[in-house]
Amino acid sequence: MPYTAIDEAATATAEQIQDDRESNAQSEGRLRDRFGRAITDLRVSVTDRCNYKCVYCRTGNEGAQYTELPIADYLRIVRRFVALGIEKVRLTGGEPLLRRGLVEMVGELAKMRTAYLPDGKPTAEGRPLDIALTTNGHLLEGLAQPLKDAGLSRITVSMDAVDAGTFAAITRVPRSFDRVMAGVRRAKEVGLGPVKVNCVLLRGFNDSQIEQFAEFSRNEGVIVRFIEFMPLEEDRTWKPETVVRMEELVARLNAFRPLVELPPNALSETARRFTFEDGRGEIGIIAPVSRPFCGHCSRVRLTSDGKIRTCLFSQSDHDLYGTMLRGGTDAELDAYIRKVVMRKEERHHIGEPGFEKPSRNMVHIGG
Ligand code: SAM
Repeated sequence: MPYTAIDEAATATAEQIQDDRESNAQSEGRLRDRFGRAITDLRVSVTDRCNYKCVYCRTGNEGAQYTELPIADYLRIVRRFVALGIEKVRLTGGEPLLRRGLVEMVGELAKMRTAYLPDGKPTAEGRPLDIALTTNGHLLEGLAQPLKDAGLSRITVSMDAVDAGTFAAITRVPRSFDRVMAGVRRAKEVGLGPVKVNCVLLRGFNDSQIEQFAEFSRNEGVIVRFIEFMPLEEDRTWKPETVVRMEELVARLNAFRPLVELPPNALSETARRFTFEDGRGEIGIIAPVSRPFCGHCSRVRLTSDGKIRTCLFSQSDHDLYGTMLRGGTDAELDAYIRKVVMRKEERHHIGEPGFEKPSRNMVHIGG
């Protein structure tokens, strides 16, 4: 046998042994990866389409690149994940509110029950899922009540400016600010509060709005969460200098009004939480670049076309839907999910030499 063939054969056998070991190790019990992290949080992109073309996210020239599954297929997949230990499902996109059948999907998710207790013990009773949604808010005013009635637990609205002009310049959609504000207020009225407002800060672009965002949180009663810009855009615009890092942000907010840190809600909490000295307003800072939280990551993602991604920065995705289309049974889907989750990356490598951009951009993964 030539040398390379021997090498390949040896690698293939080693991979097979590794696969067998992984599937043996993970044939039962709550979903965990090889680092022992419990996987309890599933993000499902229900469409690759988006009605905004945010300048830091999309080129503005490209549309959807991946297909959508029938809602019933997303639901079957979510059921498998829930049977394995998922407790929280976040619907995202693209823009999830563009997806026909979304309200009905939330209604079906609301009927599902968790298979494990928070301490990891299996349970027959189960609890309702925590069902969250991330949206740009453009269509929220009309959909907030139906979503609430269907069983949505929580909502996050992405807003990268709190003035109409900057907002429209970022989204490239005229009059978008008023639409989104109407959506945020409606969501609060129907009981989807506290609404979280996510803002991605880019130096020289919207970082002049930090103090205004703090006022916005205090006046509107929303939780503002600043997110560090990550290299996940369609254009290759990311530079370390563009990122407004947590330390700098905390200093800016503290100068505005003294901050008081709040305890984390959970171990896997991605945000550091703050209020101001008078207790009005809440700010979260999510710092995947300057303070990665991979060690506590509990997330996996399902793309709109039915692929599993184990990290935002994965170099490949895993074709769960392919297994389903080939007639995979529930047991086969479960085994596939367990095997893929076992290979979840230990951490991302943003900012390190040799960092490779992931195989998909944020809008095509589902943030
Ligand atoms: N259309 C929905 C929305 O606007 O929230 C869901 C999809 S959007 C891709 C999800 C989130 O990803 C948004 O909050 C957006 O600001 C964020 N995002 C997009 N590109 C990002 C990047 N390069 N770094 C950090 N966050 C990003």
